Amino acid sequence: MLLFTALSKRSGGVRRLVLSAAAKINLALEVLGKRPDGYHEIATVMQAVDLSDRLVLEDAEVLELRASTPDVPTDGTNLALRAARVLREAAGIERGVRITLDKRIPVAAGLGGGSTDAAAALIGLNRLWGLRWPAGRLAELAVTLGMDVPFFLRGGAALGTGRGERLEPLVGGAFALALVSPRVGASTAEIYGRVTPEMYSDGSHARQMAAALRSRRPATVARSLYNGLERVAAARHPQVHQMQAALLAAGALGAAMSGSGLTVFGVARSLDHARQLRARVSRASWECWAVRSLQGPAIRTRQYEPQGVAGLGPRRPRRA
Ligand code: ATP
Repeated sequence: MLLFTALSKRSGGVRRLVLSAAAKINLALEVLGKRPDGYHEIATVMQAVDLSDRLVLEDAEVLELRASTPDVPTDGTNLALRAARVLREAAGIERGVRITLDKRIPVAAGLGGGSTDAAAALIGLNRLWGLRWPAGRLAELAVTLGMDVPFFLRGGAALGTGRGERLEPLVGGAFALALVSPRVGASTAEIYGRVTPEMYSDGSHARQMAAALRSRRPATVARSLYNGLERVAAARHPQVHQMQAALLAAGALGAAMSGSGLTVFGVARSLDHARQLRARVSRASWECWAVRSLQGPAIRTRQYEPQGVAGLGPRRPRRA
């Protein structure tokens, strides 16, 4: 009992957390060149959007993960589980967690699904395990998991340079978008592997987008969209230009591919307009969403159960 109470105090009294983990789009993405370490130097404007995975974290003896879809790994290569492992090692503790991942962000779609799950695991476990790590220390660990993970620890909009991990927060406007994703994924490494020096640019598109966001006008944002990987991805996957053309024909203010693809987004005048775009481009081979830009955090705690509070065991169905 004494041990239980001590554990409860140390963990901040939480034994179960439910988190939402939002996707991102790249409003601008430029490849500036290749670095001696083999990675590409990029400049990108990332924007969190309200298409989210849901993660339930429960105190456990071991580290384990269950996922709602078969297209994500459930072993140690899952980024949420990797985040749990590296955090546990870095903190030097012997705690476990059972992660239940309800995947809503399409996988390998350029929307940062794995990275946002990793960020959610770091933020959630910092609390579940009672670590009280400051944001900066979590960010140092985040970058070892993936270049987009630090962005998701913050959310909103940001200019990313270096490999995308050096972040400058941007004041973004609230705008709506339609997302269209083919039911096939693309490998980020393969797309970057096909970039040639004549595709490099100087960072001016990303700077222009940062300024466009400050205008808070969807039409200005739409005019500044740019993705230097679009050509490479479209050469392999003709759906990219088909989705883009469909969004523009449906009335989107502008359309571009996100990240290394293959998701394409169209900028709308309003959420209603985004829903119209979604309806107009909808077809069996594509998945479509109407979403809003998120100005606040990408990772949000939806529910938590305090340790040792009576009546907060497994959830019972509510009476109608
Ligand atoms: P990137 O961050 O490389 O641009 P992406 O956003 O296009 O990636 P993700 O959905 O993160 O794509 O998936 C990339 C790869 O990561 C996939 O091959 C997938 O199997 C693996 N992966 C590992 N963990 C996860 C996770 N929690 N969610 C989605 N994919 C994951």
